[in-house]
Amino acid sequence: MTCSDSRVPPELLFGRGLGELFVIRNAGNTVDTVALGSIEYAVAVLNVPLVVVMGHESCGAVKAATEVVTDNATFPGSIGPMIEPIIPAVLSVRDKEGDLLDNSVRANVSRVVRQLRQHTDPILLEPQQAGKLKVVGAYYDLDDGRVDFFDRP
Ligand SMILES: [Zn+2]
Repeated sequence: MTCSDSRVPPELLFGRGLGELFVIRNAGNTVDTVALGSIEYAVAVLNVPLVVVMGHESCGAVKAATEVVTDNATFPGSIGPMIEPIIPAVLSVRDKEGDLLDNSVRANVSRVVRQLRQHTDPILLEPQQAGKLKVVGAYYDLDDGRVDFFDRP
């Protein structure tokens, strides 16, 4: 699963075609009921062996979440509630050295990865325990096109 950003289409980035990837995208690659249900479907029905949670450089959704934390920013419509799940990730790296946005993107990925790894429902838990399913985190660098798989089991 990854962000809706037009610069990160998984099929193009990984050179995959029709029928090869089950893709879930939303701004900020967070796990809501729809995303979680989609992942569960991919695992339970399609026997997907690998879930990649991929964040990316200069993510607008994560940037908005950092602005909530640093500037008390507010956003119209459902944008605010949409980025809410990203805020704990921003808070977790607020005092960390380096770029807040970059650190937040990675922290957000790690949180989602952890959510999926620690999901208590057997639908995701059992295949992971049986070694049939892996959940990994990744960061896509827009400048050089590299994907850093930084959160491996
Ligand atoms: Zn994004």
